[in-house]
Amino acid sequence: MKRYADLSPSQRTIMTPGPVEVDPRVLRAMSYPILGQFDPEFTRLMNETMEMLRLLFRTGNRWAYPVDGTSRSGIEAVLASLIEPGDRVLIPIYGRFGHLLHEIADRCGAVVRVIEKEWGTVFEPEEVIGAMKSFKPHVVAMVHGETSTGRIQPLAEIGKACRDEGVLFVVDAVATIGGVPVETDNWYIDAVIGGTQKCLSVPSGMAPVTYNERAERKVLARKRVERGLRSMAEAELSDLRPIQSNYLDLSQLQDYWSPDRLNHHTEMTSMLYALREGLRIVLEEGLDNRFARHKLHESALIAGLEAMGMTLYGDMKCKMPVVTCVTIPGNIDGESVRSMLLHRFGIEIASSFGPLKGKIWRIGTMGYSCRERNVLHLLGAFEAVLQRHRFKLSAGAALQAALDVYEGG
Ligand SMILES: *Cc1c(COP(=O)(O)O)cnc(C)c1O
Repeated sequence: MKRYADLSPSQRTIMTPGPVEVDPRVLRAMSYPILGQFDPEFTRLMNETMEMLRLLFRTGNRWAYPVDGTSRSGIEAVLASLIEPGDRVLIPIYGRFGHLLHEIADRCGAVVRVIEKEWGTVFEPEEVIGAMKSFKPHVVAMVHGETSTGRIQPLAEIGKACRDEGVLFVVDAVATIGGVPVETDNWYIDAVIGGTQKCLSVPSGMAPVTYNERAERKVLARKRVERGLRSMAEAELSDLRPIQSNYLDLSQLQDYWSPDRLNHHTEMTSMLYALREGLRIVLEEGLDNRFARHKLHESALIAGLEAMGMTLYGDMKCKMPVVTCVTIPGNIDGESVRSMLLHRFGIEIASSFGPLKGKIWRIGTMGYSCRERNVLHLLGAFEAVLQRHRFKLSAGAALQAALDVYEGG
């Protein structure tokens, strides 16, 4: 019989926009014995997780809980629960993950209007607000931090305008939550989806979401249709349709997370331990300290890359602090550089998608991966590898520039 080797994954320095390195405390949390999902000890852990998620999302919303599945399960749960076939949905797109929102909204039967911005830039709020006012959508859905291009979209004005017009505003904050401020309530966002494997430094496998009463009202109305509870008068007033998905039905998920604990799926015990520990770490550090830490390491990384003679990609006014995109210099094979970083130094950086494939590298400074040792290790290795690829640079300059930042020079 074939024998399979013991599991022994290499120690990597993961400097991608996710998944990133997981805090050892979170890995330990995942190794504890499981509890039954209706065990009071476990429901207490679920409730604590909800409490911590409200702080993370900076919201007073009742509903803040993880959807079991990767981040796109959270996106799909929110869109499938809020969009009825025939609903008008506006999707402003400035990178790959905007296209994901579009695809999911399409599959929900939405009448989608897309507005697009050249990759490397973001929208002026007026552009989105103008399109919203003319299209009069039921929902506006957009990405906060586009990991594909390393850009961050200001949301506050758009959120306010959507609220004023009675439009539901849905935001994919998968890549920003826990690394960059996300102000659910202050920015008038009706539903937000976060991710675990990016700035929270928890493995992939859960999607924390939060939504307010405006969003809940739509979800509950659709549930009443499904149960046949709608009166004739209501039936005449609207043509609400039930939520298509069972697994991703927010009305059922919230019953499961409510004190009623109505059975739905089997909660992912070990992932819940992981998320709870990850959130505890975030709150111990403090959200504002955490955002400042991400900015500090971003500054050191940028200083090093520029001293090396690298050109950063995209409009710097809307650069996402946790992802730094670097233009691959002409006649350098980007994949060969990435491969040498991985195989000689154990460091992983990312390439990009679509129009940016082969044109930029993407370097993440997220969560537990975002620390001085990693930034310095990457800059030293990057210099050496680029020299091996015959790129002319003044050796040592990158590390000195980064050290200047760390030593406050
Ligand atoms: C990573 C990412 C996703 C997708 O997350 P999965 O966990 O792979 O499903 C969605 N949106 C953004 C902005 C991301 O960065």
